[in-house]
Amino acid sequence: MSITDKIAAAGVVGCGGAGFPTHAKLKGTIEHLIINGAECEPLLRTDRYIMLNKADELVAALCAIVQELNIPKCTIALKADYRDEIASLEKAIAKAGANIALHKMESFYPAGDEQTIVYEVTGRVVPPAGIPIMVGCVVDNIATILAVYDAMHDVPLTHKYLTVTGEVSRPVVLRVPVGTSFTRCIELAGGALRSDYFVVAGGPMMGKGLTKEQAACEVVTKTTSGILILPADGYHAQQARIEVSHMLNRAKSACIQCSYCTQLCPRHMLGHPLEPHRIMRKMAVANEIGEDLHDPVIINAALCCECGICEAYACPMGLQPRKINSLLKKKLGAAGIRYQRPEGATYTASPEREMRKVPSKRQAARVEVLPYYHYTIRDLVEDEPETVSIPLRMHIGAPSVPVVAAGDRVRAGQLIAKCPDGALGSAIHASISGRVVSVGNTVEISSSL
Ligand code: SF4
Ligand code: SF4
Repeated sequence: MSITDKIAAAGVVGCGGAGFPTHAKLKGTIEHLIINGAECEPLLRTDRYIMLNKADELVAALCAIVQELNIPKCTIALKADYRDEIASLEKAIAKAGANIALHKMESFYPAGDEQTIVYEVTGRVVPPAGIPIMVGCVVDNIATILAVYDAMHDVPLTHKYLTVTGEVSRPVVLRVPVGTSFTRCIELAGGALRSDYFVVAGGPMMGKGLTKEQAACEVVTKTTSGILILPADGYHAQQARIEVSHMLNRAKSACIQCSYCTQLCPRHMLGHPLEPHRIMRKMAVANEIGEDLHDPVIINAALCCECGICEAYACPMGLQPRKINSLLKKKLGAAGIRYQRPEGATYTASPEREMRKVPSKRQAARVEVLPYYHYTIRDLVEDEPETVSIPLRMHIGAPSVPVVAAGDRVRAGQLIAKCPDGALGSAIHASISGRVVSVGNTVEISSSL
């Protein structure tokens, strides 16, 4: 079996982002495999834990991928601040005699954005609405490569490493079965320090905000990188409560067209034609968000990576260009309107890009997570809950098709849902042994039945 077939069989998807199936990403002629070790979201420590403690496995997986797929260059890009992780990787690379470079970046946000990291490592600009393979690159994250290592040994992706931090007794990196409840994960971090709190699934900049009640219904998926417990009346909770109509009214009345949002936008800095201040200007005369989806300025909202710098760092008026872009992207997608690159266009990063990078720590302060910024993880906490609820859709592409029914006995690692024939998707495996309780949008398994 080829390495890509093994990766597909193990159900490996991008563990740090939207969950693109990894076997599909490794197709085509790849000149440069870039591994994202930046972990640029403030507070997360998951990839750092893996680089520190699983460096040999990462290097072995990378050697296998580059050898089998004949990839001439491989680089792990991480922050120069990660001294222990760099030492660990350098030792593993030297031990294996591997041809893997380390690219050390400054501590800025969003160093881990796929298009930003390609530019940082290669100096090439991925065209707007393009993907890294258009400039010969593929970007995968650290946790994904660890899952590839397991796949090489026929071990499917059933467990997830994630950070639980913020207002908890003991910030931790966990390794738990996919389908473990958020409630259990918070307990494993010693519990929340407040009776009422707000939860962010992922990092504080791009994570998904959840009320305490919503979080109680959530489970760890293949893409969950963190669970943050934050004050119920803090920045994230307040931002989540802003209504769309209020957002539009504030854009109309308060945008001073200073253009800071555009000047600091990392995609604009790469030479992409995204200009959030011009989108906000359009909002000043709009009756509703997305009323003129064919306007070229509005179509450029499709180029937004939703990093949040415009609203959480740049805007002096506290406006939400990112949220407006996000709504516009949904409407553009629903209307089938795509950004079209002009024929023959070339893209060059701004000469001012270097001095407009946003320092990670300052960014953390702006979103009120500085009190949780400095901490060290030494140990891994592992757990095997009695029940798991495994979603059939936790990746890009078609939902997986269940191959088990309620009442079936399954063992950990057994295939429970397959990728539909001919579709982009992923296989899913039981993360604990037990009996299937129900099959719907999720497969629920209990070890006590
Ligand atoms: S969220 Fe704002 S800063 Fe980030 S890419 Fe979109 S427009 Fe640019
Ligand atoms: S930074 Fe804020 S006030 Fe300035 S142009 Fe952008 S949205 Fe308007």
